[in-house]
Amino acid sequence: MDSPIENYLRRIHAEIAGMKDGHPYSAIPAMANVDPDHFGIALATADGYVYEVGDTREEFSIQSISKPFTYGLALSDLGMDAVDEKVDVEPSGDSFNEISLAEGTGRPANAMINAGALTATSLVKGSGGRSRFKRILDTYSAFAGRSLDVSERIYASELKSGHRNTALAYLLRSFGIIESDPKPIIEDYFRQCSVLVNARDLALMAATLANGGRHPLSGDEVLDLFSVERVLSVMTTCGMYDDAGSWISNVGMPAKSGVAGGILAVLPGQVGLAVYSPPLDEHGNSVRGVAVSQRLSSDLGLHFVRAA
Ligand code: GLN
Repeated sequence: MDSPIENYLRRIHAEIAGMKDGHPYSAIPAMANVDPDHFGIALATADGYVYEVGDTREEFSIQSISKPFTYGLALSDLGMDAVDEKVDVEPSGDSFNEISLAEGTGRPANAMINAGALTATSLVKGSGGRSRFKRILDTYSAFAGRSLDVSERIYASELKSGHRNTALAYLLRSFGIIESDPKPIIEDYFRQCSVLVNARDLALMAATLANGGRHPLSGDEVLDLFSVERVLSVMTTCGMYDDAGSWISNVGMPAKSGVAGGILAVLPGQVGLAVYSPPLDEHGNSVRGVAVSQRLSSDLGLHFVRAA
């Protein structure tokens, strides 16, 4: 028998499935043909209960939801000061692929937009016989609690069409923010965006952040507490790009979206929420994902500055 929470989620799912606004991302050709009706909601508590409704086992590419996790890995490898020298923590108020680099220094505004994310990827180094990308993939897998893989098809498509990201990486190299050959960094960034996840994975990744960096089911410590705090802080101000202000007012949770239609939100100490639905609004955020998050936040009192 379904739990009351699942029954509640089913009702929200049925209501919000009727929203037909937005369009799936088309700038990456391999992603253009998704089914716009795919729609899944997953909620994972910080102590490991997972509630799922709809297409929660449908796989899609993680895209920009990768950014906080790579940033976290860079922070735990290098410490905050070294990372801060390369990437700032200011909301840019710009869209995800904006060329938001500080005048003079070239330092990207934050690690949630592409310029800062490319920089964070460059800061992760291979070690102990594992390549940079293997370490990134292992980190995402530990957050999800299962082995994740790359979609080679999406990776190839990003590599072929990602001219702006390629240009950004070379620009960052010219400023000395990226310190080595940009080509392998660009490739690893596109690989990290092409990692396949489902809504259940994202909910558990969010719940791991909610649980201070410890996976609620595996019990593994995936990220240290300081890095988790920093990641959640930057997600709060920058995770939803130029919609961050309205998101934090209406939903009130650190969050991150990706152009494949995933959204992940975290209520520290409590829950991780994930929604998958491909049609995007003008900010590149999932339309149904935003609607579900607002609804759950208000019905369940998930806003972190809730008055009562
Ligand atoms: N791979 C996409 C890009 O770098 C990710 C963008 C996103 O999800 N917002 O442009």
